[in-house]
Order: sequence, then C-alpha cells, then structure tokens
Amino acid sequence: MGNESDYRFGHTVVPLHYQIVLEPDIPNASFVGSEVVDFVLTEATDVVVLNAIELDIHRATISGAGGDIEAVVSYNEELERVTLALGRTIKPGNYQLSASFKGILNEKLHGFYLSKYVNSDGNERTIATSQLQATDARRAFPCWDQPDLKATFGVTLIVEDGHMAITNGPEIGRRALGNGKVEVRFGTTMKMSTYIVAFVVGDLEASETIDVDGTPLRVIHVPGKSDLASFALEAGAFCLRYFADYYGIPYPGQKLDMLAIPDFAAGAMENLGAVTYRETALLVDTKTATHAELDRVAEVVAHELAHMWFGDLVTMGWWEGVWLNEAFATFMENKGVDAFRPEWNRWLGFAADRQSALEIDALKTTRPIELAVGSPDEADAMFDTLTYEKGGSVLRMLEQYLGEEVFRAGISAYLTRHAYANTVTSDLWDALEEASGEPVAEMMDGWIYQGGYPRLNATRTSDGTIALTQDHYRFLGAGEGSWMVPLRYRSSEGDGRMIVREAAVLSVGDDVLLNAGGDGFYSIRYDDELLEAVRSKLSLLTSHERSAVLWDTWSSVLAGDTTGSTYLDLVSALGDEREPAIWSVTLGGVAELHNVVSSDVRSELQSFVRSLLGGLATELGWEPSEDESDLTRQLRGVVLRAMGSLGDDAETKRLAREVVASVASNPESVDGDVASAALHVVAANGSLSDFAAFLDGHNHASTPQEAVRYLRAAATVPDDAAAIRLLHMVLDGTIRRQDSYWLLAAMLGQRQTGAATWQRIKDNWDAVIASMPKQHVRRMFDHVQNRSEPEVAKDIKAWIADHSFGAAATLVAQQMERLDVRVGLRAREATSLQIPGL
Ligand SMILES: [Zn+2]
Repeated sequence: MGNESDYRFGHTVVPLHYQIVLEPDIPNASFVGSEVVDFVLTEATDVVVLNAIELDIHRATISGAGGDIEAVVSYNEELERVTLALGRTIKPGNYQLSASFKGILNEKLHGFYLSKYVNSDGNERTIATSQLQATDARRAFPCWDQPDLKATFGVTLIVEDGHMAITNGPEIGRRALGNGKVEVRFGTTMKMSTYIVAFVVGDLEASETIDVDGTPLRVIHVPGKSDLASFALEAGAFCLRYFADYYGIPYPGQKLDMLAIPDFAAGAMENLGAVTYRETALLVDTKTATHAELDRVAEVVAHELAHMWFGDLVTMGWWEGVWLNEAFATFMENKGVDAFRPEWNRWLGFAADRQSALEIDALKTTRPIELAVGSPDEADAMFDTLTYEKGGSVLRMLEQYLGEEVFRAGISAYLTRHAYANTVTSDLWDALEEASGEPVAEMMDGWIYQGGYPRLNATRTSDGTIALTQDHYRFLGAGEGSWMVPLRYRSSEGDGRMIVREAAVLSVGDDVLLNAGGDGFYSIRYDDELLEAVRSKLSLLTSHERSAVLWDTWSSVLAGDTTGSTYLDLVSALGDEREPAIWSVTLGGVAELHNVVSSDVRSELQSFVRSLLGGLATELGWEPSEDESDLTRQLRGVVLRAMGSLGDDAETKRLAREVVASVASNPESVDGDVASAALHVVAANGSLSDFAAFLDGHNHASTPQEAVRYLRAAATVPDDAAAIRLLHMVLDGTIRRQDSYWLLAAMLGQRQTGAATWQRIKDNWDAVIASMPKQHVRRMFDHVQNRSEPEVAKDIKAWIADHSFGAAATLVAQQMERLDVRVGLRAREATSLQIPGL
C-alpha cells in the first residue's frame, strides 16, 4: 500500500490554465510539445514539483514579477515526478511555467498512444489517441496530475494535412504551415481535471452533426463505418437531453464528439466533449445486432454522458472517492437507458449486475467501496465490480428508499453546489439529507466504508409477529459487520418500510415479502413456513422480486446452506416465465451445476433443461414475427442457446448449423439474437473446421459485434488444437491487446479444454502477461471458477500464490476465493445432485 502523501500534491501550486501545443509524429511513434501554464504559488519555494513520466523536458522556465528563471530539471521516475530547481526562492504570487518537451506514442493503450486499423484498400493506418485516466496525463504533458488541481485547457494540435484532430474544446481556427502540416486551434475548456483531457489525431471520419439544444453532437470513427453510427447518435442525443433535465443543469461542454477507437483498454472514457469508446461500445448495426449488443451501446453512451456532470463537472477529490464517479454513472446509465427504451425493462437487466456484485461481496476477500489509495496502480485497481456495480446498487437501494424525486432533488443540489470543484463522499450525503430529512450519512457509511452485506433472517414467532435479525453473509464463514438496512416489505396488509438495525419486529401477515421491489443490496433467509409462502406465489411477485428470490436461493447453494436440488425445484416452478433477464440469471446457476456434475448426472440435467424450455422453444420458433417486442427476440436467443448447449438438444443443434450457414452468406437474413445463439450452439459442439470458419468470419466481419461473436465462438470450440492455435494468436499479436484478457478468460473457463489451457498459460506466463495492458491481467481470471476440478484448482492457487500481482492482489485473491466456493460446490453436488421431474 503506497502512502497517499507520496503521490498527492498539496495546494502550494495551483494551476489555473494550461496552453498546450502538441505535434504527433505518428510514423516515428513520438511527439513534441510545449506548454505555458499559469499558476498561483501559495508558499515561498525554491523548487516547483509536478508530474511527468516518459517525457524528455528540454527547457522549463518560471516567469513572474521577478523575471524569468531557467529551471534545472531532474526526474523521479518512481514517483513519476519532475523537480524544477530554481536556484533561488520565489515568493507566493502568480507565475507562468513555460516548458518544451518530447514524448513517445506508445502501444500500451495508455497516455498518448497508437492505435492501428486496416482501411478498405487493405492498408494499415495508424492514429494517435489518448487515455489519461487515472494518472497518465503526465505521459502527454508535464502537469499537476491529480483530480483536485483543476484548470482550464487551451489546446493546439499540429497534424498532417488531411488528418482529423480532436480535443475537448471546439475547433476555433486552423492554418496551413506550408510543410504539409496544419495547425488546428481549439477553444478553452471549462475548469476541469487533467484525467479528462483528450487528444485524437489521424485518418478518421465524422458523422453528420446533430444539434442537441445547441450542443453539436457527432460520432467519429475510422473511414467506412458511417452506417454504424446512427444508433449511438440517437442514444447520445436522447441522453444529453435526459441528463440535463434530470440534473437541472445544462450540458457543461461546448460540443460533444463520441469517438470509436480501434484499440482501447477500457469500455469507454468520459473526456469532456471528446468521449472515447471501444468500437463495440459505440458502432452497431441495428439490423443484425442482438438485444444485448444494442443495450451495450446504449448503456455505455448513457454512462459516459452521465459523467459529463457527475465526474467532469463535479469530481472526487482523490482516487479513494472514485466510486462517487463510477457508481453514480452506473446508476444513471440505467436511468438513462430505462428512459430511452422503457420497453427494455432495463432495471431488471441491472439485477444481473447487482448479483455479480453480491457474489464478490460475499467473499472474505472483498473490500469496502471506499478505501485509502496511494499509488497510480492502486488507483487503477479501484475500477472494479465493487466500485461500479455494488456502488450503483447501493445508490439504487437508497433512491428507492428515499423516493425518486427526493433523491433527484438532492443530486441536483449537490451538483449545483460543487460545480467546477471537488468533493468527498460526505458532501453527497449532506445534500441527500437536506433533501430527504433522513439520516443518510449514518445509514450509508456502513455500506461504503465496510465490505460485505447483511442477510436478514425472518422467523414467525409464537405471538404472530415476524422477528428479523441480521448477520454478515459470506459464502465461507460468517463475518462480523452490521448495517442499517433500508428495508421495504409488502404483505396483504399493505406496503411498509423501515431501517433495520441489529434486529426488528414486524407485525404483518404470514404472506410477507421482504426486499419488496427487489432493489435491496442484501439477502433474505426466511424460515421454512415463510419461505413456502413466498415460493407458492412466485409468479405473482414482480419480475424484480422474483429475480431477487432466485438469486438468494442460488447464493445459498454456493454457500452450502441449500442444495442444488432445491434450486432446481424452484427453477422448475418458473413455468410461464417470459422475462429473458430472469432466464439468463436462472440458467447461469444451472450452467454452474452443469459444469461441476458427473457425466451421468449431466445427461439427466440436460434432459431437465429440455423439459424446462422445450415448450417455450417450440412456441417461439426460430423466426421473429413482424410485431414482436425486443424482449421476445431476446428471450428466443436465450432459450435457443440454452436448448442447444445446456440442453444438448439434437434438433436445436441441427437447425443451429443451418442458421450459421445462412448468416455466413447473408448476415442480414437472420435476426441478431437467433444468429448469435446459433453460433454459440455450433461452437459449443464444434470441431476444428468450425474453428477455422469462425476465424475467417472474424477476419471478414462487417461490424465490431460480429467480429467479437466469431472470436468468442472460436474460444468456445471444445478442441485442444483450436485452443493451442488461439493462444498462439494472442501471443503473436494477431489478437488485439484490448481483447487478450477476455479471450484468455473464456478459454480458461471452457469446460473441456480449460485445464489444458491453464497449463499452457503457465508455460508461457511472461508472454501472456505481456500480451495485455497491465490493468487487464487480473481479468484473465474472470471465469476461473469453472476450474474447480480439485487438482487443477490447487495448482492454480499454488501458482497464483507464487506470483505477484501488485495493487491487483486483492482482485486476484477474490477470483481464487470464487474458485474455492466452486470447489466446495463440486464436492457437494458432483454425484448427489437430484434432478426434479417436470
Ligand atoms: Zn465511468
């Protein structure tokens, strides 16, 4: 754990304005730059210290009332700082730093970096682009690179004639320099943090410009993809208006460009006015996309645009508070998408995200949402499920408890009060307390500053009331935390809400449902009698509530408190369920059982899946009807996929092959969800020749989503020779660096070939680590829980214990504990799982 004071500057130097000129030299992978920074010095000093790394500073001059001082530059690489020694003491006052420098355009997807694509002539083209969060602005220009040293930025980019140049501000002028280069000047930004500065330069194309109540909105992409931009434009225009209205504050930028970058480490980045995205998160063909692929674009656009206010306008003071940015943007992305496409039932889809956070948070190795952060690596490690999905879930729980309008009023007041400035967590609670009159800070501190979550135990007492107690729920051994639980409940006597501390008593009927609405970030354990009452009316609950009951039951199977058979009993009662989001989550539990049971039990389980879904599959068929809803299309995809893989249904497998052949000849002839499901079914039963066809499909894909689908299919084929070939492609750079982690994760989780893949990952460890950005390494273990074969799991854990993961150690430890939980599941269920009749 680094010490915050080693990495965080005080406010003895306060930058006011950066005037920056950058000239990228793409063929030589370098850039030259200069800057003039106006700053205020608050204490006398003979040195000025700021951040820079991988920058060669030729000259740095400090100018003030006392004249100019040529500084002596020295570097501290470990702390990523430079010291400008002045040779004499200067007094507090206003100064200017003028510096010129040279840097590198790296290929590591951070700082100012290179991204490549192949154009329609088959030639490779390279663009220069930036990713400065968390702490990489210092790779592009010397600066005080921390969120609470905000300043305004004026940028000039010198680029090849014909290249597009984009930064945060609007273009305000350009002139030809006569040497084949053009100098492009941009307007000054609002006062903002260094990590949301952006520069993108290269052979790129812009969509039409849409005027959104005075804000020009465009999508920018590599040439030839203009037909994939319309959905993002529609979602972007909607979200800009929706958020301005929700927050009660106009969009704080002057224009908005959304840029699709071919090589991009994260999903997207909220640079003010110049939001960058992975191509799959922005460019999509509405005619061939699955529901999930469209939803992904809408959610990422909504997430990033929510940040223009929450994050860009008002920013956490330091990286410990990154949840303030990310949890809120996660919460708002759901509100935005729910408003954009109400028929998608977006909050039910979010239940799956909540459940993935509940799973991590039930581990001993979880962490509080907010905790001390020092070094840049520690800041990077904060961008995880607990920050995003747990954070977003507890905000949703709070919103539903306080009421949506009261919550919105508090948020609007918070943003207005802290605009252009920085905050800590208590500032948010203060605003919500003022709006609601509720003890928000006292209640929420327990959810933010301690890891884990409670389980409420409900028991019918002899006097007819319901006794509630709480314990700290974990899969492997209870914890000692306690929480103020905002409980909503319902019975035939009506709705109620209360804050449950250690224990509580409810005077309600036998038919009580706890966690009414299903938004609570906690689990419920009913006594047998109360549980029976809930299960008997499962179909009468809202879909959100049903999803929560199913998760609580699956979670207790993972903990060993309930058997897999009990879970399957509950699943078999789903009957007429029509919500794809519920089937997805439910079948996730079935798939986990499918992975750990013996082959005899597996064939019984396959037959169970066929009985469970057969009627629905027949009813839905393979062809959507004209007037069908988006959710019905999605449901068809979920059902066909499960029938052909988990259900091993011969007819589904046969028809899936026909569909895959049709898609290969004409992608638009098949509905996206059907095409994607069929591809998965063929892949799950596929051969080496299918694998070759998938690679070919990947190479010739006409959309980013299609490219990913084929690559995922290639990783699904249960053939060791295919797995060897694919690993080779990761290691020789055929696979983009941005895709290395998820492909390896899929291969490691593959039931039949994953154990052998693990052996090969070990054999090539250094090359595997080098194939991806540093912050992705931990995510290679996203599906490691499938490797619960005892001897394989033991080997993985021994290897992990022997290797260092730096600041990501906690995240890797969480994956190892998830694996432990499945080793236990396998031991309990492998041969004893009882399959219910249907
Ligand atoms: Zn975000």
